[in-house]
Amino acid sequence: MMTAVVSDHESPRAEDPEVRDALAAIPQHPVETTDRDFLGLGLEPAVLEVVARIGFEHPTPIQASVIPDAVAGKDLIGLAETGSGKTAAFVLPIVQRLRRGRGVRGLIVSPTREIALQTKAFLDLFRKSRLRVNSVCLIGGVKIGPQFDQLRRDPDVLVVTPGRLLDHSERGTVSLGGVEELVLDEADHMLDLGFMPQIQRIVSQLPRQRHTMLFSATMPPPIERLAQRYMKDPLRIDLSPKGAASGIEHRLYLVDEKDKKRCALTLLEKVPGSTLVFTKRRSDAEWLCRVLERGEHSVARIHSDRSQRHRVAALESFRAGRHRILVATNIAARGIDVVGIEHILNYDLPDTPEDYIHRAGRTARGAAEGVVSSIGTWLDKSLIRQIETALGHPLPRCEADGVAPYREMQSLQERRRRSPLRR
Ligand code: AMP
Repeated sequence: MMTAVVSDHESPRAEDPEVRDALAAIPQHPVETTDRDFLGLGLEPAVLEVVARIGFEHPTPIQASVIPDAVAGKDLIGLAETGSGKTAAFVLPIVQRLRRGRGVRGLIVSPTREIALQTKAFLDLFRKSRLRVNSVCLIGGVKIGPQFDQLRRDPDVLVVTPGRLLDHSERGTVSLGGVEELVLDEADHMLDLGFMPQIQRIVSQLPRQRHTMLFSATMPPPIERLAQRYMKDPLRIDLSPKGAASGIEHRLYLVDEKDKKRCALTLLEKVPGSTLVFTKRRSDAEWLCRVLERGEHSVARIHSDRSQRHRVAALESFRAGRHRILVATNIAARGIDVVGIEHILNYDLPDTPEDYIHRAGRTARGAAEGVVSSIGTWLDKSLIRQIETALGHPLPRCEADGVAPYREMQSLQERRRRSPLRR
């Protein structure tokens, strides 16, 4: 089903102070909404009451497309970016469908602790409503003891990261035999993180008769296979951007491997504004932070070696503007949903063109403008070509002060094509 035309950008306008407090745990930023109404999506009055209290006036495109089929119990794959309103797209149907019964009936699997906590915060808005949905968040990086107590309080829905859920199921503190609703959120990121074997173990513990929804920003073949295996004739709802947003200026710095660090430091000095840096390796993230701190830059970092407390604190201080720069490894970066990022610096290019577009989407949200700087070496040549094809234009080559650019060799074919004396 197609959504209606996107009409404007909205932020929720919750009047109820309790709801406002709950929403504070979820990064708030304006999203594109449709001109449709929540009323026509098949949601029951008890769910619509909470939607109204939250202050959502119109559904976002992914919500308008997903909710009617999800409410009807159709398996589906939603292709949509972080920050598109995906959480409500699966939470609203789930809370409606789980109205009857007892025990753990809903399972939402997230790749990162941050995303799991945000989903749990959204679910909490339904706890005090007529729906009385009780949920528990089972994530790693925090003590397991309090989670045992929470599990004893008879939750309806679990929001989990894969490792910690398996930990509980091995200890026998959780049983998944009654799960009716399964959501695999940010499935492509779970793949990046190597979670697929764990997902398979989790799904093998679930009843075959269930409703499954999978969300992903991209659809690489392993995700496609996962979907085929675990879903019944899924509907595919594709709202992934077909190119990067229009307000983005792309800059490519081709350098020798040995010059990457100097190039990154120069760019971080030269390009002002709030900056998110992506590195592949934790060691590069650590190095960059240390050097920047020595140069009196205000910088925070987020990667999987850091405790949950540190990761949350880093994200909070970046979000609040106390740190201008946030350095993140690929892995930790998915949960990052921050308004007003002006500069994305790819210290390492991502593995796929889809990921490049996804990263670029972190800046230039809505009508804003942003710069995406990427540092590449000759090893990235084929990937760069793929990114250019996906964007539909070449990445402008740029030079950083004091860093010698790597000169691209043109292939014989290219030289012939560009030569005025073409034979
Ligand atoms: P999500 O992609 O679920 O993380 O949502 C991104 C942001 O959009 C969050 O700040 C939500 O509170 C907000 N949001 C989601 N749906 C709507 C809506 N229908 N109207 C206004 N804001 C929304």
